[in-house]
Amino acid sequence: MSDGKMLLHACCAPCAEYPVSDLLSLGIRPDVLYYNPNIHPKFEFDRRREQVVKLGEIYGLSCLYSDDFRMDDWLSRAWEGKYDSRCDMCYEIRMDYVARYASEHGYDSFGTSLLVSPYQQHDKIAKIAEQCAKKYGVDFAYYDWRPHFREGQAMAREHGLYRQKYCGCIYSLQDSEFKDKIIASFPDSWEASR
Ligand code: SF4
Repeated sequence: MSDGKMLLHACCAPCAEYPVSDLLSLGIRPDVLYYNPNIHPKFEFDRRREQVVKLGEIYGLSCLYSDDFRMDDWLSRAWEGKYDSRCDMCYEIRMDYVARYASEHGYDSFGTSLLVSPYQQHDKIAKIAEQCAKKYGVDFAYYDWRPHFREGQAMAREHGLYRQKYCGCIYSLQDSEFKDKIIASFPDSWEASR
């Protein structure tokens, strides 16, 4: 099945806001897919997923998501030694899933909101996504949205979307200068729900 449909991976709602509005302005109506098993803890994973669903509603786009919260698997792969860095692994897990999903569900191409962030390893993400696209026989829709990062964040603020203060994994939470504040925003039961 091929109807020129695009799948947009959303790492989170604030990062997906500009890519979504840009694609719409180009006449492209992507389906949005939340797939981020890297996010820790489960409360945060759910919170970001809810915001992506909300973004989909704002723009009238289909929003798909996986409840794949595989912290143990993510961590064990992080220690496999197969990757140069944990971020390489993190990008590959997500791009591999998105490319495979796109291929298996009749999409022609996929993109990712990770490409809006000046804090991510842009070239590496693009390279890994290209490799995954080739592997599954779909196109990778490359966009450099970085010049519009602040604009997208401002749009997300206007829409009242939650904007997190760490990338997502347990390591980035540990390293965040806002760690105490972030943990204070979790419910008392968050440790039990890891
Ligand atoms: S810092 Fe971000 S990209 Fe890197 S491993 Fe953690 S969640 Fe993934």
